[in-house]
Amino acid sequence: MIEEQVKNYLRVHGFETLQLKAVLFDMDGVLFDSMPTHARAWAETSDHYHLGLTESEAYENEGRTAKSTLDVLFQRNKGRNATEKEVEEIYAYKIQIYNKYNIETIPMKGAAELMEKIRKDGFQIILVTGSGQDTLMARLQKYYPGVFTRDVMVTAKNVKTGKPHPEPYLRGLQLANTHPWEAIVVENAPLGVRSGVNANIFTVALNTGPMKDEKLLNEGANVLFHSMQEFCEKWDELKKDLQ
Ligand code: CA
Repeated sequence: MIEEQVKNYLRVHGFETLQLKAVLFDMDGVLFDSMPTHARAWAETSDHYHLGLTESEAYENEGRTAKSTLDVLFQRNKGRNATEKEVEEIYAYKIQIYNKYNIETIPMKGAAELMEKIRKDGFQIILVTGSGQDTLMARLQKYYPGVFTRDVMVTAKNVKTGKPHPEPYLRGLQLANTHPWEAIVVENAPLGVRSGVNANIFTVALNTGPMKDEKLLNEGANVLFHSMQEFCEKWDELKKDLQ
């Protein structure tokens, strides 16, 4: 069902075959449904400071630094970058709002079932996240027991340069002991998709928010689904074209 996309991937990267051995998962917005809370916190912050951020922009900017996000908004509204003090104040406000709403972690619907299928099929599962939170391990163990151990995780603490640089996904390939043509990446944000594509890996995009599909496809995503549930339901068909 994705034969054409695979052919196109092989042509673009100059590889001969895609022989799936490992699936590299992003975490926020892929394994956990954290984007609605993140977007809501940005929306309220934007209202409070009159920044004019759209809901779609909140999704598009996932993984960008607060400074880089605020500079774009400040340039648009005031014709200048945000000062260090402004970034500090506004970002502190955003975190406060985020924590107010982030009462519990919500796993992404369909993700646990997909993990089960992938494990049964004998492929490796690797986590590649830009997060460096200390609570990360406990969250993963609670919702995905036994799937993510330290030796299959790349976090902010293991890389010098974060997404959209390819380093995080190149590290993921190392952990899995695989070549780029032996893995796929699952990502929800434009910067994450670019990181996977820059690492020469077949990249699956999940667009679960208000952002236009083009935002992810233009970064080079090879295939796109609108929910993890959809990806999970189609897995048995998809994997035939990936090996
Ligand atoms: Ca993400």
